[in-house]
This record gives sequence, C-alpha cells and structure tokens, in this order.
Amino acid sequence: MTTVGVLALQGSFNEHMAALRKIGVKGVEVRKPEQLESVDSLIIPGGESTTMAKLAHYHNLFPALREFVNSGKPVWGTCAGLIFLANKAVGLKTGGQELVGGLNCTVHRNFFGSQLQSFETELSVPKLAEQEGGPDACRGVFIRAPAILEVGPDVEILADYPVTSDKLGSMAPRDEDKENEMGPLDRVIVAVRQGNLLGTAFHPELTADTRWHSLFLRMGEVKGERSLQCASASNSDDPEGKGTPDLPIFE
Ligand code: GLN
Repeated sequence: MTTVGVLALQGSFNEHMAALRKIGVKGVEVRKPEQLESVDSLIIPGGESTTMAKLAHYHNLFPALREFVNSGKPVWGTCAGLIFLANKAVGLKTGGQELVGGLNCTVHRNFFGSQLQSFETELSVPKLAEQEGGPDACRGVFIRAPAILEVGPDVEILADYPVTSDKLGSMAPRDEDKENEMGPLDRVIVAVRQGNLLGTAFHPELTADTRWHSLFLRMGEVKGERSLQCASASNSDDPEGKGTPDLPIFE
C-alpha cells in the first residue's frame, strides 16, 4: 500500500491527512529529511511559505526535498506548497526565500492580495473530471493565494481563473507576441501538472471533494496497476459522481 508523506512543519497538513484518511490512504507526517526515505509521494501543504521555508531550512530539509522532487516521485504543492515547488517566485518578502523548485513556472506569492481578499469560487476543471469523474467544476478555496503567471512548455494547465487585465498587466511578465495572438491576457493559472509534480494555488483539502487527492495518488501508479482502492472509497457515497463534492469540511 502506498504511503503519502505530508510535510508537517506548518499550515494545513492536518487537513491533508484527514483527506487521505477519507480515501483510505496512509498519510505520514514528515518533519525530518530521513522521513522522506520511507514515503512514496509527498504533499507540501498551504500555510505561510516564508515561515515554512525558515522551518525547512532549520531542519535541513531543502536538499532532501530537492532530491525527492528530482527522484520522479509525485509531489503536490498546495498554495504555499506551490510557491515552494516553483522554479521562480515573485512578490517575495525582502531578502527573498529559499525554494525547492522543479516546477517550470513563475508564481506570484500573494497575487490575489492580503488575507482579506481571500475568496471561494467555482473553477472549471474538465481535465480533473475526465480523469476522476464527477462534475466539470470544483470549489476553489483561495486563502491569500498565489497565482501562476507563466509556465514552461512541459507544464499542463489544469485550471485557470479570470482576472482584470489591468491587475494582470501590472504583475505578469509581458509577452507581446502572445498578446497579439491571443488578445489581452486576462487569466491566471491556478492548477498545473508537470510530470510527477502537481501544483494548486487553492486548497482542495478544505473541501469535501477528494478528486485532487485521488488524481495525485494516480500519479504514483505504475502503468497498469490499479492501486486506487481510494477511487472506489471516494466515490462510495456517490457512485455516479453527480453530487456536489464541494462542501467545506472542518475536521
Ligand atoms: N501566499 C501565502 C504565502 O506566501 C500562501 C498562502 C496559503 O498557503 N494559503 O505563503
């Protein structure tokens, strides 16, 4: 049975552990570099990326985290975790912060503003629905959330979100050729996949929709292997996948 590590330095690691329990998968809290040796995949939760980076540095976790990402094992960063995984982050605190890197994208750390500008919205997620069933939309909980401004060619976009061009204009690196082709750029990217890496700017672990967790687990499957007892577990209350799996949970 697969074991999922959840980086448990700070932030919403308990909620990820609860989501894993719900789909019948073993989660293990990771606080030390050597604990990474015994997990098959890793979730880096949301929280506060500067604080998390300081704690990761204190516990000497960065080299082991980079090695884990490079090993090809699945790693999923939610929110602050997405910032951790980005190759480049803008809007950082003075002095910057250490990143794990690996995900070929530029992230803006507090793109949507302060804590007061946190919001919930419905996101269109056809690729998630194609893989995991259920509705074409999911609830996106954005808490002082980052956004992805630019991705490399090897990055698949799983969800984006509309923003006014003037907001984007002041933040996004401009690519005039792209604008000429596509009209004014007016969306930011909020969920991506690149090989073994998954990144979401929002918090699926704060909703009852476990499809992001099951998608992540599927990334660790060897071809042909069906380890997803969790797929049936997650859908057992709603075999048709027609319900609204977007109610907030507070466990
Ligand atoms: N923007 C926050 C940061 O810098 C992340 C917020 C979150 O994880 N909910 O870390």
